[in-house]
Amino acid sequence: MRRLIVCFWCALLLVPCLQFVRAGEATGATKALRFGKLVDGKGKVWSDAIVLVRGDRIVDILTDAAKIPVGTEVIDLRRYTAIPGLIDVHPHITFYWDQASKVYAFEQLNTPRLPAVSVFLAQENARRTLEAGVTTVRDLGSNNWDDIAMRDLINRGAMIGPRMFVAGYGIYVADAPPRLGYTTPPGGRANNLPDVMRVVREEVAAGVDVIKMYASTGTDKDVSGFQTYTYEEIKAAADLAHKYGKRLAVHSYGPDGARDAIRAGADSIEHATDMDDETIADMARRGTFYVPTIDHNRWYVEHIGIFGWDNEKQIADGLNAYIQRNFETARRAFKAGVRFAMGSDALFTMCGENTRELGWFVKLGMTPGQALATATTNAAALLGKEKELGAIAPGYFADIVAVEGDPLADVNVTISNVRWVMKGGAVVVDKSGPQKTH
Ligand SMILES: [Zn+2]
Repeated sequence: MRRLIVCFWCALLLVPCLQFVRAGEATGATKALRFGKLVDGKGKVWSDAIVLVRGDRIVDILTDAAKIPVGTEVIDLRRYTAIPGLIDVHPHITFYWDQASKVYAFEQLNTPRLPAVSVFLAQENARRTLEAGVTTVRDLGSNNWDDIAMRDLINRGAMIGPRMFVAGYGIYVADAPPRLGYTTPPGGRANNLPDVMRVVREEVAAGVDVIKMYASTGTDKDVSGFQTYTYEEIKAAADLAHKYGKRLAVHSYGPDGARDAIRAGADSIEHATDMDDETIADMARRGTFYVPTIDHNRWYVEHIGIFGWDNEKQIADGLNAYIQRNFETARRAFKAGVRFAMGSDALFTMCGENTRELGWFVKLGMTPGQALATATTNAAALLGKEKELGAIAPGYFADIVAVEGDPLADVNVTISNVRWVMKGGAVVVDKSGPQKTH
């Protein structure tokens, strides 16, 4: 009976099932991956590198093919350069836009849809994310604990997707984000300091990995940045999150919430336009990560018709003006030595465009290598996973991306030329063509 059920799903969902079979191979024998070049995320660029993978981990890097153990499966990717699996520290993968529905994208988030259906549909977002070379996400906001369900399904091998570190609902005041103007479910709502502490505890009890707090207005078409939580409230959230071993990510569209969040000990600041020099200097001194998410407003402008908004022209003008301020703030922060991590704010069909943020980073002054670090080593450090993620080295998860071209010479190689992706020792994307040898 069980076999029959599997066959039924195989027939219905041919491609994911094939991938699932591959994922199942991850725990098997040693594999040797051969690359023309390898950027290891530890500061070294290798030529003719051979990465040995056993189970879900990297066990060694060689340069002498004669040392490949006899009987090892060899995957020949010598046409490509290997980079560490990329990390997006700010998508919303579970926010799926069902295009078969007549309901506009954001309104769907508040239209009754069973969590199981949302999570099932969101597999498409997960697949597109992997195809961009993103093997890990810090997912910063979801409804109904959909993100926890999705994380757990992926971790147990029942679903193909990036490894997820999740934030649950996030903490917000009534009628402020996550979705201004819509009726939101009660999870995450906190209107005063005791509420904040209660919600942090609820999120932790539910099983989140990171605490997200919306300390200002501003989301989708609304680019206002009015501070919604006081310094004391943010400090309470930061202290309690840290006490539970969790990190705090603070959403602030404007400078005031960002300034107080940095002082309060937040681990990362999301969006945050118009920060003054003093705030930026404070951020650099404390090592607070900046996740500017410049590109997501570009995506809104390009897809403005899918939201059913009135005054589209006016909204696009506001979004474009915000992009400029966002970009300028990020440029000043980079110059001042602030640590950056790549966050896309991808949701709906933006999933898969996660790494376009790196193009903005190069435009504001980073080298392609520095931009790559924001999505590898820096992002891993923000997650507290710098000994397991963000690099290709023995002991690390076998999260490896093969790109065509030189990612240290041209950032577009990382953005557009992903050909093959391994996550935890399993091949999850393969556009490398038929030249593999075994
Ligand atoms: Zn977001």
